[in-house]
Amino acid sequence: MTKMIYPGQTIGIIGGGQLGRMMAVAAKEAGYKVAVLEPTMDSPCGQVADIRIVAPYDDEGALEELAEVSDVITYEFENIDYAGLKRLTEIAYVPQGAELVRITQNRVTEKAAIVEAGCPVAPYVVADTYGELVASIHQIGFPCIVKTVRGGYDGKGQQLLKSNEDLPLAEELFEHSQCIAEGFVSFTKEISVIVQRNGQGETCCLPVGENIHVNHILHETIVPARITEDTEKKAEEAAAKIADHLELIGTLAVEMFVLEDGGIIINECAPRPHNSGHYSIEACNISQFTQHIRAVCGWPLRKPRLWAPSIMVNVLGQHVVPLTNSISKYPDWSIHLYGKAEAKVNRKMGHITIMTDDLTEALQQVEDSGIWSE
Ligand code: AMP
Repeated sequence: MTKMIYPGQTIGIIGGGQLGRMMAVAAKEAGYKVAVLEPTMDSPCGQVADIRIVAPYDDEGALEELAEVSDVITYEFENIDYAGLKRLTEIAYVPQGAELVRITQNRVTEKAAIVEAGCPVAPYVVADTYGELVASIHQIGFPCIVKTVRGGYDGKGQQLLKSNEDLPLAEELFEHSQCIAEGFVSFTKEISVIVQRNGQGETCCLPVGENIHVNHILHETIVPARITEDTEKKAEEAAAKIADHLELIGTLAVEMFVLEDGGIIINECAPRPHNSGHYSIEACNISQFTQHIRAVCGWPLRKPRLWAPSIMVNVLGQHVVPLTNSISKYPDWSIHLYGKAEAKVNRKMGHITIMTDDLTEALQQVEDSGIWSE
């Protein structure tokens, strides 16, 4: 049953990373208290939370403590322990439930749900062992991508196979989990739709973002995506269909490929605010984080509007120094750093958003500043 959670009450967040931090900042703006469960002491979310529970995500005692101090519980990433979350649904108010996490933690159940919702995915086969992959790969053909069913992110746990000779490259993926092999989609663009829904069934999509990856890591999101109105409509309709099918409460980021003919193929979903939606903090009348808090607290949703075309660029470990040197040069950049202690190469340390009508100039600024990945 949907409950209204009021300012002054406490929102518990599982996970202390940057998504939790930005959720917490949005929650605190409205006067909520925030509790976070996270194994490290000095986490991005822990730095802004009122209550820190420092323990592993599946620690039973810690989950009980989180339940005790929180009026509502949400999470900032999907690879949390399903059994722990399920148990939490019995002792605390977790409006998002545990099913969405179960489904999206596993590429097989995720793809099945997308297909059941009536949306297109790339052709795929499931293989429990390397031998099964070798036996069934002819159903997909080459090129194809083999992905671990669980736990992959930013291109980890994936292998592109161009021909039969490449097959052995995929063997070690099976040490991690069951795998799927999916047909390589020759897309023209990657886009994402962040769809948000509350317990009353109100559904809103943020403006479609166009995502450019470098080394499998999201490099930049351009909004509005440079797609036709027809593709935009298809993308939003697909995201809303998946959200309805999953009876979403909260946030679902739906990543898609755009085809030459303007059609779309759904790649994957994440049941949380997403890196490609960070632009909404400045560029929309409602950020993905504020909308998420509204959704889990039972508030009505606000229809998102884009104030201005924008570009969001991720700041990785190797970009922190050049970014710091750019602060005085670019007053129009909105700078977000997540408070992570160690700036490791390719670690997401922050992002910038530039609202501009002149995308070429903004891209040039970013390139000149040295926060550009190649
Ligand atoms: P994923 O972890 O599934 O989001 O994949 C990471 C990236 O690999 C995507 O953003 C795409 O650039 C690429 N990719 C994944 N699956 C496919 C596919 N079936 N066809 C072409 N490119 C893909």
